[in-house]
Formats: sequence, structure tokens, C-alpha cells
Amino acid sequence: MLGNMMQGQLLISGLIEHAEAYHADAEIVSRTVEGPIHRYTFSDAAKRSRQLANALTKLGLEKGDTIGTLAWNTYRHFELYFGVSGIGCVVNTVNPRLFPEQLTYIINHADNKYLFIDLSFVELLESISASLNGIKGVVILTDNDNMPETTLENVICYEDLIAAESEDFSWPEFDENTASSLCYTSGTTGDPKGVLYSHRSTILHAWIVSTGNVANVSSSTVILPVVPMFHVNAWGIPYAAAMLGAKLVFPGPALDGASVFELIDSEKPDLLMGVPTVWLGLLQYLKETNQTLDSVKNALVGGAAAPRAMIQEFEEKHDVFLMHGWGMTEMSPLGTATSRTDAMDDMDIEDRYDLQQKQGKAFFGLEMTIADDEGNELPKDGVAFGRLLVKGPTIVERYFKSNQSAMDANGWFDTGDVAKIHPEGYMEIVDRSKDVIKSGGEWISSIDLENTAVGHPGVGEACVIGVLHEKWDERPVLLIVKAADADPTKDDILGYLEDKVAKWWLPDDVIFVNELPHTATGKLLKTNLRDEYKNYLINK
Ligand code: ADP
Repeated sequence: MLGNMMQGQLLISGLIEHAEAYHADAEIVSRTVEGPIHRYTFSDAAKRSRQLANALTKLGLEKGDTIGTLAWNTYRHFELYFGVSGIGCVVNTVNPRLFPEQLTYIINHADNKYLFIDLSFVELLESISASLNGIKGVVILTDNDNMPETTLENVICYEDLIAAESEDFSWPEFDENTASSLCYTSGTTGDPKGVLYSHRSTILHAWIVSTGNVANVSSSTVILPVVPMFHVNAWGIPYAAAMLGAKLVFPGPALDGASVFELIDSEKPDLLMGVPTVWLGLLQYLKETNQTLDSVKNALVGGAAAPRAMIQEFEEKHDVFLMHGWGMTEMSPLGTATSRTDAMDDMDIEDRYDLQQKQGKAFFGLEMTIADDEGNELPKDGVAFGRLLVKGPTIVERYFKSNQSAMDANGWFDTGDVAKIHPEGYMEIVDRSKDVIKSGGEWISSIDLENTAVGHPGVGEACVIGVLHEKWDERPVLLIVKAADADPTKDDILGYLEDKVAKWWLPDDVIFVNELPHTATGKLLKTNLRDEYKNYLINK
């Protein structure tokens, strides 16, 4: 027997309409690419999203058409999230930090009809424009006064595009399973793969992320998302903020510690969101200038494991709870978080940090398990570890334009991560399956070693890779970028690690380097290093 309830569709246009109706005066503050701070309200954002919808319709865009963006976190990018998806088109947020070949691949593969780009990316787009297919025009996200000289063709100024349009627009109703946005994985090997989100998956994800056990968003929350809108929809927070009427503070292109702190100081966010490298920059700046984070209560960190030293510094110097989140492009992106509980308040502080280092409990809607290489499920006992599998309505079913499912025979998606699940439900990432070091049949976590090594004050950044070994197959080697003004030796580092990791985990060598390679999303890029150092121990 079916229930007797209405079949309302979950549509992204509904979020911005709701924000306008119930949280009209909630603010959106942006550091603009042009420089000044811009400030307006959800009511303004809703009006301009409708002007944009009218403009896009006049450009001839039709339901299902794709529009690319190369843009920072600002109010104009926010309007694109709603204006484009709202008319049934798809917003393809392209990560400008990718290599030019990857950008070209993504823009062509996505069939983008128009590109909306920030001033910062005009030159970048000029450099690849000859290899782009099917682009009808490029809209520059600025006003007439700031329009640049460019060799790009069919260039339109964003403010001119929407200026004359009506603020009235009747958002179309359609199936909530309609595609809304498209993000590509960074693709450290092979071409990037597209994940095509739907209105339904996006709204469910935003709803879940805003609940108390995750970001705990309400109309009293002031959020500073440093996590970029050009990658994994800024963890869904632009949608969640519209749903709840939370104030948004967008950092624009200035992500260094001083600029981020300036916004924190003036706008008083209580919730920060970003990857560990951004917080390293902020903490460093605060240390140098002897300042503290007074308004901030929580910081959500994810995208890579947060080192214990960072969790501790946020807590002890700034009274900020660092909440670990885990997820990936294929998961909309968040799937787990380690939120603060009453039990944590009563815990020994070191035990609490142990818990905060774990990636957290699954949200409602996400099923999660671990399995061995044959697909047999492993016990969730906090000891066994294996391939981390997920399923749920916010997880990819197949990659964009693929005719093959991304699920296994039992409907699981293999995350490519190796993890443990503890009896009380906390998931702990051990490593990426391709990064784990297989030493004499046992596994060593490169992440654990790296995070322990960065606890040494002389270490700026650490990277552990497995290299070939005659007896043990693979052994860990630790690459270190020294901290500014520090000069640790190999023995200092090994001595520091000695009582912190199992003896057989100790790296076989410590190599000091000037810099380490990163992916476009700021993660260590280990593929090239593995090739470079493959025979390092054998030839030694
Ligand atoms: P990319 O495009 O670089 O793959 P994603 O954001 O999709 O970007 O990367 C997802 C991967 O990042 C995960 O599979 C996991 O390996 C890693 N990751 C994300 N969050 C965490 C975390 N909190 N701790 C450890 N690893 C994480």
C-alpha cells in the first residue's frame, strides 16, 4: 500500500526561494577577485539568480545543457549554483588548479556550452582555448569597469549579462533526479572522471551535512568555507546555508593565513571548513602574529587526514574543536564526521585526540563496510582493515558518460581507501589502497607515519612512500621538507619516531627535499615519487 502524501520534488531552486522567503536578510559576504569586500543578502542573491536564469534562457540554453565555471568562492559563483541548476542546466565546476591538459579534457568531455570565469583565469583559458570544442561564449564574472583585454572570443561581462533582466522568473518544475552539477575527480592516473549529481542527491546531502552530528548549521551559524566551490561543491555548504539561512563568508582568491584571518576577525564566523593545508597556513600566521581565533567554535577538516598536532593546536591554543570529515567527489562529497559528543568532554584529552584523528561515523543514508580483496566483509572490530565500501543515495552509480556501473555485484562502491571500522562505528582511514606499504605481508600506513613525523617541530611537510626492498618487498622511506629556520637530521627524526610507531614501521631512510609535489586538490602526489625512488633502497 502506498502512502497518501504529496510528491514534492526536491529542487535546488527551492533552496534559494526558501532562503529569500525566510532568511531574506541573512548575509553573504565575499572577498572579490577585484579586491573589495562585497556584502549582500540571500534576498539579493535570489533576485540575481532569477536575473541570471532569465539571461541564460535568452542565451538559448536548454534543459540538460552544461555550463562550466572556473571561479573562486564568491557571491557570483553562488548565483551560478542556483541560476544554472534551477533552470535544469548542469553547472560543471572546473578546478583551475588542474593541469592544462586535464582542464581541456574536462571542458570538452562535459560539452560545456558557455564558460563563466573569474578574472584570475582569463589567461589560463586563453592558453587552452584553441583546443576547446563547442564553446559558444565566455562570461567574465565582473563588471564593465573591470573587463580585461582578452583574445578570447564571444566574451560577455557578467554584470552586463544580468543587469537588464527581470528579477521575476518562474523556476521550472521537473523530476528531482534531473542532473544539477558535474564535478571531475582529480585523476592522479588516467583521465579525470565526471560525477554527475542530481537535485535530489544534492539536497539530501546538504540536508544531512547541516544536521547536528555533522556541520550543525542553523540561521545562527556563520560559515567560512575555504573549501573551494570549484571542487566537490564546497562540501555542499552553499546549498546547506541556503536551506538554513546561515551567513556565508566567501574568501575569494585569498586563501593565505593573513587574508583568511582578516575575514575571521571582521565577520566572526563560528564554523570554518577546509583542507588541512589551509589550516596549516592559518595556524602558522596566528603563531607568528600571536593572535587567537575568538569567534570560531568548530572547524571541519577533510580531504586529507588532519595531523594530531593540528587537532591539538586548534584545541589548546584557540579553543576550537577540529571535526574530521571524510569523503570524496564520488560521495557528494561527505560521508563521515567526528562530531563533538558529551562523552568526549569527559574523556582524557589524549584519548579524545585519538578519537578526533579518526574520520568519524557514517551519516544517515550512508552504508559503509570493509572487505578483503575477494570481497568478503571483514569484522568491524577496530583491528581488521580492508577496502572501504559505501552505498547510498548520495553515492555515484556510474561515472559521467560511462555505460558501466561503478558498483560491484552487491551494489557497493569501492572508495579506493583502506580503513578500519571500530565497534562503536568510528571509521579510521589507514591509507589509500595504492599508497599503503606492503612490508613482508604486513601493511604500513603511510598516512600514520606522515602525521606522526609532522609532530616534530623541525618538519614542515612529510611524505612516506613504499619503495622496493629485496627482503621485505617494500619498505617505507620518509621524505621531509624542513620547517622554516629548522635543520633536523635523519637521526633526530628517527629518534622522534622511535617510541611513537611500531619498530618495524620505522622508515628505512629519511630524505630531505626542498619541496613535495601536490595534486590540484593539495594532496601529496606520490605516483611520480614512487617512480623516482623505486630502486632507492636496492641501489643504495
Ligand atoms: P580527488 O579529486 O583529489 O580525488 P577527493 O576530494 O575526491 O579529491 O579525494 C577523496 C580522497 O581523499 C578520499 O578517498 C581519501 O583518500 C582522501 N580523504 C578525504 N578526506 C580524508 C580524511 N579526513 N582523512 C584521510 N583521507 C581523506
